[in-house]
Amino acid sequence: MATPYSWHPGSNDVVPRWAVPVQLLPDELLSSWLTRAALDHGCDPLVLTGSLWPKWRVWTLDFDRGGLQGKLGQLSFLSGVREEWLSAATLGPTIGELNQRPLQPNAVWPWILAVGARNRIRHGGLQFCPRCLAEDRIPYYRLHWRFAWHSGCQKHRVLLLDKCSTCRRPIEPHRLSAGDRDLAVCASCKSDLRDGHVAQTKARALAFQTLADQALCGVGVCYGSDQLTAREWFNLCRFFLTLLRKSLRSRPLRLVELIATLGVDIEQLSTPATGLPLELLPAHERDSLLAATSQLLNLGPAVFLEAAIAVGLTKASLCDVKQSPPASIDHILSRLPTTSKTFRKILETPSFRRIKPCPKGVIMRKLARLQRKMR
Ligand SMILES: [Zn+2]
Ligand SMILES: [Zn+2]
Repeated sequence: MATPYSWHPGSNDVVPRWAVPVQLLPDELLSSWLTRAALDHGCDPLVLTGSLWPKWRVWTLDFDRGGLQGKLGQLSFLSGVREEWLSAATLGPTIGELNQRPLQPNAVWPWILAVGARNRIRHGGLQFCPRCLAEDRIPYYRLHWRFAWHSGCQKHRVLLLDKCSTCRRPIEPHRLSAGDRDLAVCASCKSDLRDGHVAQTKARALAFQTLADQALCGVGVCYGSDQLTAREWFNLCRFFLTLLRKSLRSRPLRLVELIATLGVDIEQLSTPATGLPLELLPAHERDSLLAATSQLLNLGPAVFLEAAIAVGLTKASLCDVKQSPPASIDHILSRLPTTSKTFRKILETPSFRRIKPCPKGVIMRKLARLQRKMR
């Protein structure tokens, strides 16, 4: 089974001024192509870029995200790869429409894995499938391996790797040297990345990944009966992710009840120990979170609202102070009580200090009723 979506087709029939033609492969990341170009010419990536842009330390930046305006012309002239193809190998054109505000060059970009660059050293940000690399005639890194919602390989149904299995260092192909044979080599310990240990990815995480790709490619996506744009759909997913992470982090009673009622096993959900944003989490932690997000999304707004009412959630408990709720859940929020109303009720109760959690039996009955409806 091939990857369902192609982000760019690559380039054919390149006629370069360079000694060796280096085609841009389908879905290849710009940095992957530039590194291959250097190795094919028998030099380090740093040497090639030093000759292209002597005063620009390009490998200290995450230029796969874009920001190469004014630089691609010369690269296109020398390599024979058209400028628009080189631009298509960056993440900016693909991800740009998901964000309302312009993306800052030094900030973490929503939905893009962050590289955490310090000089040429990276702390992460690039994933790979060892089986895809093993099948490649010319091993290369794909654009979608930078997407935070990609935690598994659609083709091989395995978890993507974000570290070398031997030395546990992040994947840094730009630090390879002239003597390295291809991009399937770890830049730190020189072991073969194709030998990396693989684990199964969660089916729900893969389903989420497919749906997210569809949304980004303009295929209509819905929540209940509402047709959403890509931006609205991703905002809705961020809302569910925030809910899941909030319930994992501080375990607010009613929110945990809601998540459990909706069938997500919170104990089994891998706890992101670091508390970092999604874009900085390792693939296995994102895999669990995205699988749970897919589960919440698939239940639809009616079931979600019923569960929220059943466990007594308020509007405020569903909203994050740092993040305004997506418009697609407005109709859910409008049916929930506000915090102030709830507080007033509690304060009016003489014995409010003695309020206890809902008995387990009551919750189990609510759960059974909801499960029947969900089936
Ligand atoms: Zn694969
Ligand atoms: Zn290594």
